Amino acid sequence: MNYFTFKQPYEEEGKTILEINVLPDKYCTFNCIYCPVSRTRFQHVRTDGFQHFEGLEDSLAELDVQIASTDPDLVFINSLGEAVFNDDLPKIISFIHDHHLPVRLLSNGYPLATEPCRSIANSCEEVIGEIKNWQEADFQMTQRPISGYTLAQYRNHLLSFRRQYPGKFIFEATIVKGYNDSPEAVNWLARLVAELQPDVLNILALTDKPFDRKLKISDERLREINEIVRSAASER
Ligand code: SF4
Repeated sequence: MNYFTFKQPYEEEGKTILEINVLPDKYCTFNCIYCPVSRTRFQHVRTDGFQHFEGLEDSLAELDVQIASTDPDLVFINSLGEAVFNDDLPKIISFIHDHHLPVRLLSNGYPLATEPCRSIANSCEEVIGEIKNWQEADFQMTQRPISGYTLAQYRNHLLSFRRQYPGKFIFEATIVKGYNDSPEAVNWLARLVAELQPDVLNILALTDKPFDRKLKISDERLREINEIVRSAASER
């Protein structure tokens, strides 16, 4: 049985993007208090281990249909958690490459420091890593990682992946009101961005409902943070 799900294809800079989820439920190293997946009917499994799901053949057949009907320029693997924990992800990526299409992979970035997750991500043309905290206590409280995981390691994992990744590295920083919108947090983020040197930088407010009511910063503060981080990072 097919377990992939697809979003309606959309345009991005003149290219058609086909977005695909390759997990039947949420499998993630974290269990963020503002996780949009947690508002859904899916099971939530906090893990850093590989999972095997029955139904790959049917799922790839459905992907084949979707590619044929939408004729995308890129396939974006954006799943209900960490797609790298699907032990069939290398086969899924190869299947997309066999259609002569590039792959963009979203990961929170924590698993990308170790093999085989690093090699799997390296096989994708584009990788998105992300961060939502700058202080350990907030990381533990709001992202609720697997026991023993730390923000310092998370930061180091992102840097170590980025230093060797040959593709297009996209970095997304989500600014969460009251957690990483202070001047000190913004400086910390600017230093991290300067070290990461992403090909694309996205600094975003948290907009998922209903969390946006308490955790979304104003558009003006988001603009300010964008300016501060981009200019500070380019000076370093
Ligand atoms: S990292 Fe993303 S998928 Fe995982 S718990 Fe947090 S918000 Fe949800």
